[in-house]
Amino acid sequence: MITTVRPQELYGHPKGLYVCFFTEMWERFSFYGMKTLLFFYITKYHLFTDEAGYLLLGTYGGLAYALPVAGGLLADRYLGLRKAVVLGGILLCLGHFGMALEGERARLMDGTVMRDATAVQTFYFSLALIIVGVGFLKPNISTLVGRVYPENDPRRDSGFTWFYMGINAGAFVSSLVCGYLGEVYGWSYGFGAAGIGMLIGLSVFLRGQRHFLGRAEPPQPLRLRQRVLPGLNLEWTIYAGSGLGVLAVWQILQMKLAFLAASGLTATEIVALVLALALGGWFVWYTAARCSIHERAQMWTLMILIAVSTVFWGLYEQTYGSWNAFADRVMNRDALGTTWTAGQLTALGAFFILALSPFFAWLWPFLDKRGLNPGAPAKFAWGLVCAGLAMGVLAYAAAHPAANGKAGFWWLVLAYFVLEVGEMVLSPIGLAAVTTLSVGRVVSLMMGVWFLASAFGEMLAGRLGSLAAIEDTGAALNITAALATYGGLFTLLMWIGLGAGALLLATVPWIRRHDGRAASHA
Ligand code: GLN
Repeated sequence: MITTVRPQELYGHPKGLYVCFFTEMWERFSFYGMKTLLFFYITKYHLFTDEAGYLLLGTYGGLAYALPVAGGLLADRYLGLRKAVVLGGILLCLGHFGMALEGERARLMDGTVMRDATAVQTFYFSLALIIVGVGFLKPNISTLVGRVYPENDPRRDSGFTWFYMGINAGAFVSSLVCGYLGEVYGWSYGFGAAGIGMLIGLSVFLRGQRHFLGRAEPPQPLRLRQRVLPGLNLEWTIYAGSGLGVLAVWQILQMKLAFLAASGLTATEIVALVLALALGGWFVWYTAARCSIHERAQMWTLMILIAVSTVFWGLYEQTYGSWNAFADRVMNRDALGTTWTAGQLTALGAFFILALSPFFAWLWPFLDKRGLNPGAPAKFAWGLVCAGLAMGVLAYAAAHPAANGKAGFWWLVLAYFVLEVGEMVLSPIGLAAVTTLSVGRVVSLMMGVWFLASAFGEMLAGRLGSLAAIEDTGAALNITAALATYGGLFTLLMWIGLGAGALLLATVPWIRRHDGRAASHA
């Protein structure tokens, strides 16, 4: 229900924007703080193999970005944005604190790994809580940013820019804090800090929710109160359903079914593929039956962009997997008078986003005024090229180690810089493209589809990363051989990025012919 009350403002934006900014900043603090430790926690503490570690990273990220389709739909139809964000926040707090219960460290006995089974199950269960929590919170807080502005308010775009900076401010600080606490003081301190961050985020949201002025309420409040199961109204049925969802995800995360082994796919990949096929079918039907010619062209342009973004995220998400492993094992981490943990160095990504945002906020209008602003498809192509070049930088670093045999620190800094230029020309542009190219009636669903592409990217990253799995990580690690392994992976990824970018650039004129507006959209 849209009220006509004008929102209270602060520094030229509705107060609701600041509530979204700080809630998402703390949510991302917890999300990335945990993610930066995840690979190391499972390989060093629970002694998973590299391959299992990369695959679990992909499985986890894949599910976390696939469920926003469901979270967005449920909020649109029943819960409303506010309740969905609160539900997501509660699940996330539980999940992050659950991660802090580390149990006993796994031990190697006569060549077999002995694990604390309860601790491992608690760990999987906590991941499931986080995944479902992200599914409810992430898409809906993003939609809420648009909702705090009156219709056609020109400040909405800059609101999204601020919001993206909030995301990265959270990611930056948490990689440094949790990445340090987890590896130096103990895993539970790192994960616990992430949990405290989420608790702060949830309380910011609960205290600030009045600033949404009823714009984030359920579309049909009476319907939520209708009884659908004995003793349960619709609202509580959805909450109970999300509890069952957590149980299902808990199992999916560790499912090793015979038919899966035979198909070579993980359960998460099957879930994501089924979702993608269903959404693909819906999309073809919807654009053919329910859209005007103009809308259809725009929706297809958007779909091409979303599909392309999968490749970008597949490369980008190496940062939490193979880049982390590379930095930890075969790179010098002494710089600026201190020794950095590999996990802390993931902060470089968010750092460059924060540093580059003002430049890009200036660049696009500057180019626009001169008629030189490239369209979204061309920007996406350059995003892929940058991701490829970043991999090229690391491939070079792996091939040219320093005197002590390890790769140099500053190559990683340069690689992050190039990668983040790519993120800046792709990710915020993509979010904006969803809101302008999608038909208004299905914009939340298309936002879910945008995140589903990240899900495929995560899973692709897990698969690609495991090409550089190294079994011997102890003192006996052969650094020269490991550098060659990582170098091989980075070279392959470089060609994937450059190739996909070149292919997209070649098709830009074709896309432009079919959709003038999309091509001129910033
Ligand atoms: N880094 C951004 C965020 O955390 C984008 C992530 C994504 O879409 N894969 O929101």
